[in-house]
Amino acid sequence: MPVYNPPLDDIKFVLNDVLGADKLSKLSGYEDFSLELGEQILEEGGKLCAEVLFPLNQSGDKEGCTLKDGEVTTPKGFKAAYDIFAENGWCGLACDEEHGGMGMPMLINTAMKELICSANMSLGMYMGLSFGAYEAIHKFGSGGLKDLYLPKLAEGAWSGTMCLTEPHCGTDLGLIKTKAIPNDDGSYNITGTKIFISAGEHDLTENIVHLVLAKLPNAPEGARGISLFVVPKFVPNDKGDIGERNAVICSTLEHKMGIKANSTCVMNFDEAKGWLIGEPHKGLRAMFAFMNDARLGVAMQGLGIAEVAYQNGVAYAKERLQMRSLAGVKAPDEPADPIIVHPDVRRMLMLSKSVTEGGRALSYLVGMELDISLKHADEKERQRADDFVALLTPIIKAYLTDMGSEIANLAVQIYGGHGYIWESGVEQYVRDARIAQIYEGTNGIQALDLVGRKMPQNFGRLLRRFFHPVQEFIEQHQGNAELQEFIFPMAKSFMKLQQSTAIIAQKGLKNPDEAGAASVDYLRHFALVAMAFMWCKMVIAAQEKLKSGEGDKAFYEAKIQTAKFFMDRVLPESDARFKMVLAGGDSMMAMDEAAFN
Ligand SMILES: Cc1cc2nc3c(=O)[nH]c(=O)nc-3n(C[C@H](O)[C@H](O)[C@H](O)COP(=O)(O)OP(=O)(O)OC[C@H]3O[C@@H](n4cnc5c(N)ncnc54)[C@H](O)[C@@H]3O)c2cc1C
Repeated sequence: MPVYNPPLDDIKFVLNDVLGADKLSKLSGYEDFSLELGEQILEEGGKLCAEVLFPLNQSGDKEGCTLKDGEVTTPKGFKAAYDIFAENGWCGLACDEEHGGMGMPMLINTAMKELICSANMSLGMYMGLSFGAYEAIHKFGSGGLKDLYLPKLAEGAWSGTMCLTEPHCGTDLGLIKTKAIPNDDGSYNITGTKIFISAGEHDLTENIVHLVLAKLPNAPEGARGISLFVVPKFVPNDKGDIGERNAVICSTLEHKMGIKANSTCVMNFDEAKGWLIGEPHKGLRAMFAFMNDARLGVAMQGLGIAEVAYQNGVAYAKERLQMRSLAGVKAPDEPADPIIVHPDVRRMLMLSKSVTEGGRALSYLVGMELDISLKHADEKERQRADDFVALLTPIIKAYLTDMGSEIANLAVQIYGGHGYIWESGVEQYVRDARIAQIYEGTNGIQALDLVGRKMPQNFGRLLRRFFHPVQEFIEQHQGNAELQEFIFPMAKSFMKLQQSTAIIAQKGLKNPDEAGAASVDYLRHFALVAMAFMWCKMVIAAQEKLKSGEGDKAFYEAKIQTAKFFMDRVLPESDARFKMVLAGGDSMMAMDEAAFN
């Protein structure tokens, strides 16, 4: 049976000692927030995840969802768990108080997402999509739509979906065929087929709010002609009571590799009634607001799976006895030593630990910058933070989901043959983690977003939001002898990242395929530098704690040891990535298509 303990000590370390998250209370709207309150909320949230959501993870995987007469039934226990979650206000954790939410910062929401994804990614997706729908309507919807939908979404009485993908297009949304025909009463008739729609139909809520991309008559070609609509399963009246059944049905449930307890639906819209969100033809912009939040949410899926997979790897490595340590017997009273003594098992555990903890610090930093981008009084500071989030979102989405998959695989490897068997629980993590590298834009598309959009945007302004603070940090701390072994490798890799940025910008201008060819390696290099930067910050925080004699000495010493491993054994990958960027795209692109045989 798999285990899960919410990593609250590490979360508190990041919030308190690394990010100094109490400064959020200076932002307008968060005046009542305190770190203590945030930590209390996460303690409660962690308990709920460990005691209510996690015990349903394996049974949900086994049972999956079923479809009968257009209605989807989620696995046993899911509805009751969802009700507990909603009744205790968790659906509205970061929703505005005026809509019945708790009004908590995005940072706390980000941490809660991690806990949920570790406990039960499939169940968490129903809630995660609802928050995305809340965000899109909140930002772009008319006053009437907000009044009608936001309180219900915040309460968790209704849930949300995002309906983008069609059979012939997922990445290239400019090709969508779903049509929206205006009616005299201001509504639209939506007709088309959407596939792979997560939480498209289920029995957890009384209503489902679909956000649908469709084209108006005479819309411009391609991505510029897409509009966004809200299409409820049941059309609500003005008071928010649900009314007639709308013409949107789930015709098929996909049979898939993982997240089996989350319904993945083919949705048919047959002149379903919808209402425009935002301006005509500007739907992709509105959907991107939703998708940015969703990408951060998917990054947390990667992190959440990495954490729970790592925890299980550790538990097994301490208890499984095989062979003796190369350095001499470690457990003389046992027939063999626990496998945690073996260097290769250590390698897998340290890799998992260093990436998970570094990824937590990095993604929470993005969560906190998101708060600053939304709530800071100074417009310049809001813009700075917004640029930072825009730059880092594709990086953490791709890196943390790639590593979530890798760490889940490592957990299977640590379990040996037992990991390959369903009962161990860890092979589920491999299957569940895999989709996060694909949806919300594949990781290849995240890399293109980084080099093609974020890098050149405003003549490199977004890049400077990361490069300048890193440079300042290096200058400030390079003389500190205690930090040398951390700062030096980080600074070296950072220098190479700046070089490859210039090279890609130059080559990409002449030949865009060069930028495309470099993009995935560049993103990985960028992620490794960002992780190293956070590890340096964590070392400083841990060293300060050790000097002051406060807190758990072993925890801070382990932090510094883990940082050392990251610098020695994880960051060097950036040298190889740098070389691959320098190599250019010729060897990738030169071969004739016919030679792929
Ligand atoms: C379980 C599951 C849940 C999902 N949930 C949702 C949902 O809730 N809502 C929704 O709308 N969709 C959802 N999706 C769809 C998902 O977002 C798409 O599958 C994904 O965006 C990729 O689109 P595609 O499958 O059409 O692949 P394609 O777009 O056909 O891409 C195929 C491959 O080509 C690559 N590629 C494409 N274009 C380029 C390019 N220009 N440069 C480099 N590489 C390129 C891609 O990276 C990929 O490797 C879900 C999918 C699954 C499997």
